[in-house]
Amino acid sequence: MPAAEPRIVIVGGGFGGLFSALELAGAGSVTLISDEDHFLFTPMLYEYLSGEVEEWHIAPKYRELLDENIRSVQGAVANVDLTQERVTVEASAEPIEYDILVLAVGGVTNYAGVPGAEEFAIPFRKIAHADLLRSCMVAALDHVPPNLPPQDTRHALTFAVVGAGASGVELSTKMADLLRDAFERRALTGEPRVLVIEMGQTIVPGMGDPIREFVAEALTKSRVEVHTLTRVVRITPNTVTVEHNGAWTDIETAAVVWTGGVRVNPVVDRLAIEKTNRGLILVEPTLQVRAHENVFALGDIAFFKDATPTLAGTAQLAFQQAGLVARNVRALIDGEQLHTKHFEEMGEAVSLGTARAAVLAGGKAFGGLLARQARFALYTSRLPTWHHRLKVGASWFFEGTTPRPLLPLGIQQDT
Ligand SMILES: Cc1cc2nc3c(=O)[nH]c(=O)nc-3n(C[C@H](O)[C@H](O)[C@H](O)COP(=O)(O)OP(=O)(O)OC[C@H]3O[C@@H](n4cnc5c(N)ncnc54)[C@H](O)[C@@H]3O)c2cc1C
Repeated sequence: MPAAEPRIVIVGGGFGGLFSALELAGAGSVTLISDEDHFLFTPMLYEYLSGEVEEWHIAPKYRELLDENIRSVQGAVANVDLTQERVTVEASAEPIEYDILVLAVGGVTNYAGVPGAEEFAIPFRKIAHADLLRSCMVAALDHVPPNLPPQDTRHALTFAVVGAGASGVELSTKMADLLRDAFERRALTGEPRVLVIEMGQTIVPGMGDPIREFVAEALTKSRVEVHTLTRVVRITPNTVTVEHNGAWTDIETAAVVWTGGVRVNPVVDRLAIEKTNRGLILVEPTLQVRAHENVFALGDIAFFKDATPTLAGTAQLAFQQAGLVARNVRALIDGEQLHTKHFEEMGEAVSLGTARAAVLAGGKAFGGLLARQARFALYTSRLPTWHHRLKVGASWFFEGTTPRPLLPLGIQQDT
């Protein structure tokens, strides 16, 4: 390891990458490369959709978060060359060389080869996806006159969410509450229809029973239709085709949102290193990539054994691993012994519509408005940097977190 200023390059600025970078400030010449100019606190993307939080709360720019001595490069990494020890960024001729590499590019939406899904379904992983979904909801509402009969209104305002994992239930309850509120404001007759389509037998399979009860109750209260053991087989611009017990049904939709799965980033697919059969990078207990001691991988792209299994593919795990990566990068530079750590679940918190949430803390689950407030408080403490936490906490406390209604496009001030 060069003694003076080892070049530490971090690829990906999400939970794994950003929190590693924050902890590595001063450890060497640190460069963070990300395809976006901002971090995204994904657990609150639902609240961004509903306008309970604003973009700057959950998607702060890297330049506001990072120390001056960390270089931030915006660009999509096209190639990682582990032999030449350099990274190529799209549209940039000059490769970025490293002494130590941290890979944290996360996952991408997995459409599972369903025809039409990639072209016509809306994914839900980024600010732009939430903006698109919100504008689709407004556009669909704007097309419905108040005097339309209830059955036609319901038909025109049918939205399908694919997947009943945490994302699917959080999103569908939020959408249903927002649409119901819009119905009242616009004096529409009848009610909207929000469907969740799940090919498995149960909703939120990864969650424990106590919190699952709150989720089931919230889905009922928000009048979300849940279809389990039902597979999406095709999506077109205005239909979703589902299969249940061998029978196929076409459902007309205003929009379909895909929360049906995550797969490893293509950047990782291209790396010739040891992986699991799902394409996850096999890492040592130190988070080093096997046979590459100066390369670390964490978060959604890494298979890490020493963690509670339910933590796989979560922000909680990526965030905790970032601490271990930073510690081990420093140890590697200093020629010291590297560390290992076991990671545990830090509790669960799901938003359920615009007025409720459910929280599991210390083995106890609670729901309702109190859980909503607890979730906001908990997430304030999980945001990056003290400065940002204080600004956001003050904004939520003094200015409130009331949802922003789906007003007609002409009246909309801020979308
Ligand atoms: C809507 C939603 C809600 C979620 N809610 C929760 C929750 O409540 N609790 C929980 O624990 N987990 C939640 N998750 C999962 C959580 O977000 C991920 O597990 C976590 O973000 C993984 O961290 P990561 O660092 O591996 O990847 P990410 O946080 O996804 O970061 C990857 C980064 O790499 C960048 N990137 C990608 N490709 C490239 C490239 N080619 N070049 C350069 N940069 C690139 C991305 O822009 C991003 O900045 C949620 C996920 C989503 C989508």
